[in-house]
Amino acid sequence: MLRPPEIGSQERAWHAETVFNVCPGCGEYSDEKGIDPSGPFAICPYCGHRQRFVRLPLFIVTGASGTGKTSVALRLAADMRDYVCLDSDVLWRSEFDTPEDGYRRFRNLSLRIAKNVAQAGRPVVLMVGGIPEQFEACPERRYFAELHYLAVVCDDEVLVRRLTARPAWRKFGSQTYVEQERRFNAWLRENAPKTLPSMTLLDTTAISEEETARRPLSSPGSPGRPAGR
Ligand SMILES: [Zn+2]
Repeated sequence: MLRPPEIGSQERAWHAETVFNVCPGCGEYSDEKGIDPSGPFAICPYCGHRQRFVRLPLFIVTGASGTGKTSVALRLAADMRDYVCLDSDVLWRSEFDTPEDGYRRFRNLSLRIAKNVAQAGRPVVLMVGGIPEQFEACPERRYFAELHYLAVVCDDEVLVRRLTARPAWRKFGSQTYVEQERRFNAWLRENAPKTLPSMTLLDTTAISEEETARRPLSSPGSPGRPAGR
């Protein structure tokens, strides 16, 4: 039973997560409804109720720390009034740290939130750190028309220089973190054309942070073809 959202923050969060997935026909919860693109309709696996919904493309921006992904995110959020920019980091909790299954619960939750936001009629640009196969495998993937992936990358040396120049990173002294990001950055550069679907690369090595933020806006009507851990 859905309770009024003003009851408390926990109930509010729960309501936001379930409002789409609870069937108005039978009240059962499912994030694996059948999809009929003709409506489009989400079809309840329990009672067959057909729920019309808004099925939009989703834009995913991925990249290692130090590549300029955050600059891109900040600029998009300020300038792209026709899109809603969400940073999936705000959803992160330690219980989601499951690399063995591609962070499946975290990915699926990110998509679920994006799906709910998209019901207002504006496409979502999701800032993440993952890769296409992690999102394509999620039950919530079905509620989007297409996923477009943009991988923000730069040369390894530039990445390491940018990361180690940040006082915060020095403070943590985390060479492990820097190495992890360097490896992810290198992986994206090499594998972007091979993933399914493929990722578009945005190389920020030779461009300033400001230009990095402007670059994805250069194609009218699209924030670029976004991806992400
Ligand atoms: Zn139902």
